[in-house]
Amino acid sequence: MKNFLYRFMAGRYGNDTLNKFLTGLWLGTAVLSIFLDKKFIYYIVWALCLLVLFRSFSRNIPARQKENAFFLRISKKPLSLFGGLKAFADRLSQRKTHRFFKCPSCGTMLRVPRRKGRMNIRCVRCGNQFSRKIR
Ligand SMILES: [Zn+2]
Repeated sequence: MKNFLYRFMAGRYGNDTLNKFLTGLWLGTAVLSIFLDKKFIYYIVWALCLLVLFRSFSRNIPARQKENAFFLRISKKPLSLFGGLKAFADRLSQRKTHRFFKCPSCGTMLRVPRRKGRMNIRCVRCGNQFSRKIR
């Protein structure tokens, strides 16, 4: 049996990040279909199931790798957008006590305690010094 499986999977694509994601999506919609008795959800469940099976048993490995690389690229963006939103919320909550400046040479966001007058700021990342007037 093990030998049969090994021979069956030889030269086939197998599992990757995109397939794991699709499997998760498939299980999620399968659970959803229990609560929502709608026909189109059943179609989605079946389509996802077939897609996962098709991708893991596919012999066209370069095409599947390309799909996975594309998925990895687009799935990174929403995550970094979320990280940017969190950083923005942090800055917003600290705006009474701190000021934020972007380093003119490397673009790093720098946080300095708020006080009046002109102050010299030194970038923690690249060491670049610049001065800003604080109201
Ligand atoms: Zn810098």
